[in-house]
Amino acid sequence: MTDPFVVIGGDAAGLSAASKFAREAPNRDVIVFEKGEWVSYAHCGTPYYVKGTVERLTDLLSLSPEKASERGIDLRRNHEVVGVDTDAETVTVAHDGETFSQPYGDLLVATGAHAVTGPIPGAELDGAFTMHGLDSAAAVRAALSEPGDSAVDTSIEYVDTALVEKYANWEPPERIAVVGGGYVGVEMAEAFRAHGLEVHVFQRGDHLLSPFGESVCERVADHLREQGVELHLGCSVTELDGGDRVEAVVHENGRVDVELALVGIGVAPNSQLLADTPVELGESGAVAVDEYGRTSVDNVYAAGDCAEDDHTVTGDPAWVPLGLTANRAGRAIGQTVAGDPEPVGEVAGTAVVKAFELECGRVGIIDHGEAREAGFDPVSRTITAGSRSGYYPGGDETTVTLCADRESGRVLGGSIVGRDRAAVRIDTLATALESDLTVAELERLDLAYAPPFSPVWDPILVAAKVLRGDLE
Ligand SMILES: Cc1cc2nc3c(=O)[nH]c(=O)nc-3n(C[C@H](O)[C@H](O)[C@H](O)COP(=O)(O)OP(=O)(O)OC[C@H]3O[C@@H](n4cnc5c(N)ncnc54)[C@H](O)[C@@H]3O)c2cc1C
Repeated sequence: MTDPFVVIGGDAAGLSAASKFAREAPNRDVIVFEKGEWVSYAHCGTPYYVKGTVERLTDLLSLSPEKASERGIDLRRNHEVVGVDTDAETVTVAHDGETFSQPYGDLLVATGAHAVTGPIPGAELDGAFTMHGLDSAAAVRAALSEPGDSAVDTSIEYVDTALVEKYANWEPPERIAVVGGGYVGVEMAEAFRAHGLEVHVFQRGDHLLSPFGESVCERVADHLREQGVELHLGCSVTELDGGDRVEAVVHENGRVDVELALVGIGVAPNSQLLADTPVELGESGAVAVDEYGRTSVDNVYAAGDCAEDDHTVTGDPAWVPLGLTANRAGRAIGQTVAGDPEPVGEVAGTAVVKAFELECGRVGIIDHGEAREAGFDPVSRTITAGSRSGYYPGGDETTVTLCADRESGRVLGGSIVGRDRAAVRIDTLATALESDLTVAELERLDLAYAPPFSPVWDPILVAAKVLRGDLE
């Protein structure tokens, strides 16, 4: 078995690749090494598990180890790849206190990303969490419950029982800090408010959800305040203070006493495994790959949160660690390694997030500085339009910002916010970017209309109409 397809990482990118490969090349072996217990889990659902919308941790699992085995995947949990030798074409694997060498014919690095906590001293204290993985979700959910409440089922085969039981014994908090106002911070603020907690969100910059642009950020900030969240904007947290456990958030202008803290200040790619190899990393620190997910070394691929992709608008490498990107690239690489090359696809930075009752979406380039750096002359317009025909109940004001290049008229990006199915409308813009549409072409799209779903002029079309006027 010297030419198996070896995959490092048993979640979205890794198992998508392994599944596709097993189907397309049943005569070759595929081995997946996963360092943890959990495989094929939905990070994206963890805030909703903490909130209580998703009842059981196991609801967040997709492909079970048994099903993986039925598909012909040799899945090895608790196996950490600790070294890669691209000359010898082997990986070194640590398992049960021992290491062994595994040859590969093709290698996929699908190691994901990790939550960063630095440079915030005290982020390692008990009661300070990041939201990355099912064990952290289980620990947070346990910490919110009354002792003896058994909110988390510790009989689940894989859960970190000791961690969950520790927090299950804590008295539930009354006041909690969320450090970081990105999408994880906003989703977690909603989850904590659902448990009746006093929630303080600290954001270093002036805006929550800053990649979504100003028009979204401002409406989200107002809405979070309406929902009882205490916002500390433009406020850098310098330390989490406490003895054995978190007792306060210290910031530039003072301190706020809290009983728990959730640190959501970003993620970084898990590419350090390749540090001693000739595999090249991109500027972001994630692995540089070509359109087929191939790295700079033959037979070595990378996909998902640990890899870059080409940006739809600029064509330059971009690091956008999101779920579809990981699944799609993994699947394509599985097919490519099986002998039928398939591009991994580009990324437009399409993202949606729920902020309590608001739906927010963004795609492409919205920021004018970023657009100029990419060689465009950006012009933007923000409009507000109804989400349904005015006479039909249930509609809401939907705000759309559209950004285009003045000279070519090409759509560069946009954002949207509203309560009534606003988020899914961003997919129209994602499609426009993928097709290099101009604002005039976007305005002429034949979008669907019926009063319960949309006004005659969909808010995206209204934005295109107004921006086209500016451009002309
Ligand atoms: C709280 C949260 C909410 C999110 N919400 C959304 C959302 O709404 N929409 C969206 O698009 N995306 C969302 N994401 C991002 C999305 O979950 C990721 O983009 C996706 O999981 C990436 O998949 P991946 O396979 O690349 O990495 P991961 O899912 O991180 O999997 C990598 C796996 O590799 C394993 N591994 C790492 N190193 C080694 C090693 N040396 N040896 C063996 N195994 C190793 C890890 O244990 C892990 O299981 C969210 C993420 C988080 C944390």
